[in-house]
Amino acid sequence: MLPVVQLKGVTHAYLGDLEASLAVEDLNLTVEKGEFVSLVGPSGCGKTTILSIIAGLLQPSRGEVVINGRPMNGPSPEVGYMLQQDYLFPWRSILDNAVLGLELTGCLNDDTKKKTLELLQDMGLKDKAQAYPAQLSGGMRQRVALVRTLATDPGLLLLDEPFSALDYQIKLQLEDLVSETLRRRGTTAVLVTHDLSEAIAVSSRVILLQRNPGKIRKVFPVPEVIRAAPPLYARDQAGFAELFHEIWQEMESAGRES
Ligand code: ADP
Ligand code: MG
Repeated sequence: MLPVVQLKGVTHAYLGDLEASLAVEDLNLTVEKGEFVSLVGPSGCGKTTILSIIAGLLQPSRGEVVINGRPMNGPSPEVGYMLQQDYLFPWRSILDNAVLGLELTGCLNDDTKKKTLELLQDMGLKDKAQAYPAQLSGGMRQRVALVRTLATDPGLLLLDEPFSALDYQIKLQLEDLVSETLRRRGTTAVLVTHDLSEAIAVSSRVILLQRNPGKIRKVFPVPEVIRAAPPLYARDQAGFAELFHEIWQEMESAGRES
């Protein structure tokens, strides 16, 4: 089967008035169908840049981006991108916010609307469909944003620190919900997070980046026992603490070198 994401020798420099700054250098990454990979690393190591390149929002200075076997040419409905902030429109109801992506891609019909309502139900938001964003908690709004991203049924989901602004308990619940929903749909996902335990709990591979310039430092496969457990319980599995420690130490030594 074709990999969902292939980055080959991707380099990106942001051009300023006086100089160019190298954000990502010679990045090679392949993500297979149904995989859930996490990108971790210090602030400024290029995580958001990499997601924006995969999303087709940013054209890299050099290198090749191949999505589902085709060279990338701009944003596509195959790829859903969810940001840290929820960006719901305050004047639209929850349901109208949730169907926005469908509306924009011309895919809104009775069937897709019904499926969106089912997703809202899955996320425990069914009775909020006619409410407005201001009436919801932060965790609920984040779930609405997730429903909106999933409603167009993207085969590839890009998540940029989607849980970082939430209370710890809500964050754990959402990790479970998201990971279960994606597993059920066979969605491929790339998650950016600064929370190492979250990365290990939800993904099949943790990719550690280093900065100046952004590069892959080391890739850590997550053992099957941890992978098989729901995120909430993954943290209790044998080997979790050891893997956490191993990645942590590698991060520390990368930090000392940069
Ligand atoms: P991360 O998400 O890991 O914090 P980013 O991808 O946001 O990292 O940034 C990588 C590097 O590129 C940083 O040095 C950052 O300052 C720089 N950078 C990011 N966005 C821009 C931009 N729009 N213009 C210029 N430099 C940028
Ligand atoms: Mg970022």
